Amino acid sequence: MNARDLAILATPPLLEGEDRLAPALKLYALRTLPFGEIKAVGFDMDHTLARYKSPEIDELAFKKAARLLARDRDYSPWLVELEYDPAFAVRGLVLDGLRGNLLKLNRERQVVRGSHGSRAMTHAELEAVYGRRRLATAAKGFRCIDTLFEIPESHLFAQLVDGLDRGIVKAENYLQLFADVRWAIDTVHRNGEMKAEILQHRAFFIPQDPQLALALDRMKREGKKLFLLTNSEWTFTDGVLSHLLNGQDESRPHWTDYFDLMVVSSRKPTFFLDSPPAVPVPGQPRCFTGGHTAWLEGLLQAQGEQVLYVGDHIYGDVLRSKKNASWRTLLLVPELEHELKLLESKADDLRGLRRLETARRRSSRRASVLLDQWKRNRVRRHVLGSRLSAEATTALDQEAAQLATSAEALQKRTEAQAREIDMLLREVEAVFNPMWGPMFRDRDEQTRFADQIQQFACAYTGKVGNLYMVDPHSTVYAPVPALPHERVGQRF
Ligand code: IMP
Ligand code: MG
Repeated sequence: MNARDLAILATPPLLEGEDRLAPALKLYALRTLPFGEIKAVGFDMDHTLARYKSPEIDELAFKKAARLLARDRDYSPWLVELEYDPAFAVRGLVLDGLRGNLLKLNRERQVVRGSHGSRAMTHAELEAVYGRRRLATAAKGFRCIDTLFEIPESHLFAQLVDGLDRGIVKAENYLQLFADVRWAIDTVHRNGEMKAEILQHRAFFIPQDPQLALALDRMKREGKKLFLLTNSEWTFTDGVLSHLLNGQDESRPHWTDYFDLMVVSSRKPTFFLDSPPAVPVPGQPRCFTGGHTAWLEGLLQAQGEQVLYVGDHIYGDVLRSKKNASWRTLLLVPELEHELKLLESKADDLRGLRRLETARRRSSRRASVLLDQWKRNRVRRHVLGSRLSAEATTALDQEAAQLATSAEALQKRTEAQAREIDMLLREVEAVFNPMWGPMFRDRDEQTRFADQIQQFACAYTGKVGNLYMVDPHSTVYAPVPALPHERVGQRF
């Protein structure tokens, strides 16, 4: 039995006794995806084909950037001793470089949570600084933490803000810290030191997934053209992908055998926006640097919606490829597996919360009707006044007293329910992240990050290997869209 057969046996994709996929192995469609119509499937590499071990890789970037700041920009050596806290920052946050804050935004781009440095800000503080205004995150001084590579950047920035506030760090203002941290993280990626370390410890930093080769092989055998489109340069790409794919399948001994076309140093998002020339990589057939959408589509003989691109960067991979090239998009969300586990572990609490919220709304509605009846009673009493008999007046007053008592009791119940919901919700959200709660929502609102996924991704999943379970000629259906009234009496 070869490695591939073993991989098939080793993978338990189905729930026992059921024809259903486990949630972590599913592809979640937001727009119906007819795989039969797709001629070419493209892949980003970093955090897509290659799932780096987190938080280890984040810590590596954090430490290297901190050392660089101390060495080349005169930052206090205190920085080098800092511990990396994997729980601190999550994807989807926005850095406010001017004020030294990290922010969580809802889908309306209003701030719902925030920290100054690493200290959580109160609602009153957030209200005073940001109010309910829509934040223009594209403005200078803001940075959206949209890729996994940017997580250490937000943590380092928060630590430096703390340092400046405590007088340990010397800088003109938060904006200087913001620019220096950007420089350090950028340099760490560009100077090759971090990549050399990753390659040196490939087995540690880049876990293999037996389903990856199976997924690529299945698509290719079924007639899809496969391409690689990565911003990483050739040497690193070769190092990572040979570790992940070489020797996984005897019919495709080398990683390049899986791809019809490979583009490295692709300069996304420029790749989708401009038309720089493609330059062949010397000695590597079918492999180029640079290039642009129309050139790639020409070579693949597939265009627009016939192309599916799989990537982890909501802006560089998904938004731009959808908006500018009309490609279909599959977003990789490596955090999904963990999120799903938490959702499952908290399922009873979440059900309880929904029940409580329904009960709260009912008692609030009932209380308001009772209050209105009391008001009508008092108006009647006033208008009819002396025309009422003594008995009728007494009856009206008794009814009013009863209505007031019942309304008050219901109002109190509503308030108690709201407090209980608040407490339970805070507990549940803290399980996802003590400071930030879940990535995709805040209380009953979706986050900016979730909104972007909904707007630009055709589908999302946790890992590329999940594509193995998708028949390359089938259609993956999105939920049927419905207005709220259409749900009455129906289950979609
Ligand atoms: P992709 O996700 O495969 O397109 O590649 C991402 C590439 O961008 C990797 O080679 C990263 O090292 C690199 N990268 C990520 N963040 C930065 C940065 O801030 N500056 C420069 N390169 C970066
Ligand atoms: Mg990537």
